[in-house]
Amino acid sequence: MTDVGLAGVDIVDAHTHPYRLEDLLAKESEGFDTRMMFLGESFHSSSRVHDDLWPVADGFTDSTVFGIALRRWLAAHLDCEPSRDAVTRARDAALRADPVAYTKGLLDAAGVVAILSDEGFPQPPILAEEFASTIGATVHRVTRLEPWILHHRDGSFDDLVAGVEAEATQAAADPNCLAYKSIVAYRTGLDVGDPSSSDAEAGFARWRDDGWAETREHAKPVRDFLIRRALAIAKANDRPFHFHCGGGDPDINLAYAGPASIFPLLVDVQDQPVVLVHSGYPWVREAAYVASVLPNVYLELSELIPWGWGQVEWALEMLVGTVPAAKLLYGSDEAGEPEAFWASALLVRSTLERVLGRFVERDYVSTDEAERLGRLVLGDACRRLHGFGTT
Ligand SMILES: [Zn+2]
Repeated sequence: MTDVGLAGVDIVDAHTHPYRLEDLLAKESEGFDTRMMFLGESFHSSSRVHDDLWPVADGFTDSTVFGIALRRWLAAHLDCEPSRDAVTRARDAALRADPVAYTKGLLDAAGVVAILSDEGFPQPPILAEEFASTIGATVHRVTRLEPWILHHRDGSFDDLVAGVEAEATQAAADPNCLAYKSIVAYRTGLDVGDPSSSDAEAGFARWRDDGWAETREHAKPVRDFLIRRALAIAKANDRPFHFHCGGGDPDINLAYAGPASIFPLLVDVQDQPVVLVHSGYPWVREAAYVASVLPNVYLELSELIPWGWGQVEWALEMLVGTVPAAKLLYGSDEAGEPEAFWASALLVRSTLERVLGRFVERDYVSTDEAERLGRLVLGDACRRLHGFGTT
């Protein structure tokens, strides 16, 4: 295997969720590994998972490859026996001795230097400055459309539109607010239409009369109208727009969550940069097609990484071999456990080295070119798109 060395490359994590230090410390270390699995994460973020199923999810962690790799790698990092009990105890001791130093140690060991923090979850928002002091790394903001809709829908339709537009405009005044995001895939679906103002206003009245039920008949024209407005403000303020695209926790509107659903909107707004967060996972090949045919569509790699663990090798080979690497943004979807930054970063770095090494062996690219592509995926593509410094 040809050596492609990415060991010294700084990583930018393009999709994470902030957490509070006291919330991290309030959780027991027991089950932290299950909380990091796709099965376990949903108990935290979804309103549809039955809490009494936690022992079922927890019982599967030791037969999940990600769970096993996490235990083995963390045992090496913490210098303890690679048993679940020993790792949990060593993790608890290290975390409680100095939680910021523990987290910073994980980030440093994985080479993660900066992250983008999705402020939409959890609510109420945790400020970038607070999260930066919690993890000891640079934190950039991604602001979220849907909480603004919730906060401004108690008055008239015009109040709602004005309120959302004011929030979006105000967010752009902060130079550290690098992008907007929508999770309409969790609400009325990614097949965003182009309703007129009067259609949206009529939908608003029906939505309110319906007790704010999240239906495609009533809520959808309002949400679609506001997405179009927010996209226009993002474009005017030179900010990329992120859409959750793909599966998620069980709250997802799965029938309208994939790249094919959002494709007509992406064609409409093709003059401005849009990031498909999660690369449409599990529909990553559809997302690869979309990003390879529309110039301003970018893909963020979380969910595939780390939860599609055994798919990461072939998916990265497929994505890096199909989509320009300057459109591929590494991300972890960390959501409350500091080890998530670290395990995902270790996985992407080692996998990319192997994938790019194979491209060199096949005489597609030189070693130097392979390393340049690797640097793009690990951080340079994210920096370029969002306009913050290269290191
Ligand atoms: Zn996320």
